[in-house]
Amino acid sequence: MELRLYDTLTKEKRTFVPLDANNVRMYVCGPTVYDFAHIGNARPVIVFDVLFRLLRHLYGEAHVKYVRNITDVDDKINDRAARDFPGLPLNEAIRKVTEQTGRQFHADVDALGALRPSVEPRATEHIAEMREIIERLVAGGFAYAAEDHVLFSPQAMNAANDGLPRYGALSNRSLDEMIAGARVDVAPYKKDNTDFVLWKPSKPGEPSWPSPSGIKAEGRPGWHIECSAMAWKHLGEQFDIHGGGIDLVFPHHENEVAQTCCAFHRQRMANYWMHNGFLQVESEKMSKSLGNFITIHELLADWPGEVLRLNMLKTHYTSPIDWTMKSLEESGKTLDDWYRIAADVEPGKPAASVVDALLDDLNTPQAIAALHGLRGSAVPALAGSLRLLGFLSESAAQWKDRKQQASGVDVNEVERLISERTAARARKDFAESDRIRDQLAAMGVLIKDGKDAEGKPVTTWELKR
Ligand code: AMP
Ligand code: ZN
Repeated sequence: MELRLYDTLTKEKRTFVPLDANNVRMYVCGPTVYDFAHIGNARPVIVFDVLFRLLRHLYGEAHVKYVRNITDVDDKINDRAARDFPGLPLNEAIRKVTEQTGRQFHADVDALGALRPSVEPRATEHIAEMREIIERLVAGGFAYAAEDHVLFSPQAMNAANDGLPRYGALSNRSLDEMIAGARVDVAPYKKDNTDFVLWKPSKPGEPSWPSPSGIKAEGRPGWHIECSAMAWKHLGEQFDIHGGGIDLVFPHHENEVAQTCCAFHRQRMANYWMHNGFLQVESEKMSKSLGNFITIHELLADWPGEVLRLNMLKTHYTSPIDWTMKSLEESGKTLDDWYRIAADVEPGKPAASVVDALLDDLNTPQAIAALHGLRGSAVPALAGSLRLLGFLSESAAQWKDRKQQASGVDVNEVERLISERTAARARKDFAESDRIRDQLAAMGVLIKDGKDAEGKPVTTWELKR
């Protein structure tokens, strides 16, 4: 049993070998806490939760350390705080925004069936580590202070060239092209326009901390340095897996690699870089102006979290995903079926067909196909496999009740009528079977006759929308 993962850096699927044979270390960039998370943000949460669960299955629960940070220092947070709490001092308002948004985020991702990571570090609690990395970078000649800023120089990194990765390797860009293509709005304090900010001065009233040595004024960190500092503190100078959405490859992850590798003289920061593809809604980019911006919180009002989870996993994590109502409805029906047949069954070992699919770079569409294959003949293995993937957190009865509450339809009554109709059809009493169909239609329930895996007739139902 080998786990193979696609690595964005080497652009190939490679056998996963942890640095320490018995303990796996993974870092995933977490949310910036200023507003409700949208359904696109749920994708890395769900994808890396599946990986976390698979790694725990392979190495043991106590042998996987998963770190997902919370970014609680950012201009968007400051803007939101000033807007929502104009009467409060900015720092107090910021605390209110980050605490409230952090709680909302947890409620959302708990409902999606995502396990809490082993550590959820906050950026503002790692300022000392950030300062230390910055001071190492300045001492090593990779960064310089200018006008109360500290800037990292990718050109200095590539000139040093001693056992360091090449700046641009992760995102597959050449520094020469970046230099040529850089926009001309050069900040006056930058030596080169490819230089990026490690530390910057705070405006009056904004959160501020003592700056790295050499800078008197207090300041605050740039975004990229946060993740280098938190990953170092909790996982060490080099670790196994680093994940996030594909939009983070450049500049965020490229800059994380540069900071960490130059500060600690490493060839690599993480041995495997994994990136999830983007999510769009009904074939359009999600945006507030298009009115198709959906939060996890809104979706949870209409759908159980496990339906959102299944819907996400039907697409392989590296592919783009088109989030549609039609697909959600299908995911809902699939889960109704799985709950009905597997939720109350003593779970067996996860099926090899499901685990093998996951071992192949988290091939969840194939794992789901394998789950369908277990439905008729191997229900305990189906139950065990579903649990491995983070499903079946409720009993069949709880699931039914929840559906009933959400729909306002008496599910037991619907199912009683359907079995009466099945009996009427079996005795060829078609007048009665049609009468029951009409009665259900009047309740807003549409029924569909089909066959199950063994060819026996089955009737499924759904609510008219
Ligand atoms: P942000 O708060 O924008 O930094 O995003 C948090 C995480 O969600 C990052 O890993 C992003 O790459 C990811 N993300 C943001 N938007 C989308 C999207 N539309 N589809 C998939 N992932 C996304
Ligand atoms: Zn990050």
